[in-house]
Amino acid sequence: MIIQIRSAALTYQSADGEVEALRDISLHMAEGELCSLVGPSGCGKSTLLGAIAGLEKLDSGSILVDGQEVCGPSPRIGLMPQRDQLFEWKTIEDNVMLGLQVRRQDTPENRQRVMELLRRYGLAEFAHKRPGQLSGGMRQRCAMIRTLAVEPRILLLDEPFSALDYQTRLAVSADIHAILRREGQTALMVTHDIAEAVSMSDRVFVLSRRPAVVKTVHDLSPLRDLTPLQRRDHPSFHIHFNAIWKELDIHV
Ligand code: ADP
Repeated sequence: MIIQIRSAALTYQSADGEVEALRDISLHMAEGELCSLVGPSGCGKSTLLGAIAGLEKLDSGSILVDGQEVCGPSPRIGLMPQRDQLFEWKTIEDNVMLGLQVRRQDTPENRQRVMELLRRYGLAEFAHKRPGQLSGGMRQRCAMIRTLAVEPRILLLDEPFSALDYQTRLAVSADIHAILRREGQTALMVTHDIAEAVSMSDRVFVLSRRPAVVKTVHDLSPLRDLTPLQRRDHPSFHIHFNAIWKELDIHV
C-alpha cells in the first residue's frame, strides 16, 4: 500500500472555539490507483488532503506514505492547485522546470525527461511560448506536467477543474485522466462533482458530514479500462452516481 491512513482525527482550534474536522478517517490506496474524495461542503475534504500533504497536523491517528509517517511537507507528495498558477513572464519550458529548479535538480537528464513529457503531451512546440498563448486545457496540462516533473509518489488534486467551464472541464478531465494513467501515477482528487469522481476514479470515498468519517467506498475498478467519456455511457456509472447522490443527502 502506498498510502495508509489509520483513524485520522483533527480538530481546529480557532478564536470562535473548536471545529472538529476529521473524526475517524481510515483508508488506503494501492500504487497506481486513482481515487476521489466526495462529501458535503465543509465536511473536511481539503483538511484531509492538507494532512496527507503534511500541511495540517493530526491530533491522533497516522498517515503513512510508503510505510513512512508524514510529518511535514515532502517531495514525495505533489499538490496540484485549483488554478494552474503558471508564471506569465516565464516560458512553458521554464514553468515546467520550476519545481526541479527549486529543489536544485535542474540536471540535463531531468530537463530531457521533462522535454519528453512536453513532447508526449503535445506541448513541445509551445516550449518557448508564454502561458497566455495557450488554451485553458493546454495550461492545465502544463501545470500537470510541472507537478509530475518532480516525480511525486502521490499526487493530490484539490478541485483541479473548478476554474473551467463545463465543456472544457469534460475534455480537460479526460486529458488529465489519460496522462495519470499513462504515467501510472497514484492520485487522490477532491471534487464536489459526483460525475467527475465516478468517471475518473478506481474508487470513490464518500465522506459524511463534519466531523468526517468514510461513509462508503465505491469500487469502480471494473470500469478501469474505459475513458471518462466512455464511462459516462456505462450503466454502472448511473448506478454509482445515484447511490452517491443519496448518500450525500443533499437538500436543495
Ligand atoms: P471541505 O474541503 O470538505 O469543504 P474543509 O476541510 O475546508 O472542508 O473544512 C472543514 C471544516 O473545518 C469547515 O467547517 C471549515 O470551516 C473548518 N476549517 C477549515 N480550515 C480551518 C482553520 N484553519 N481554522 C478553523 N476552522 C477551519
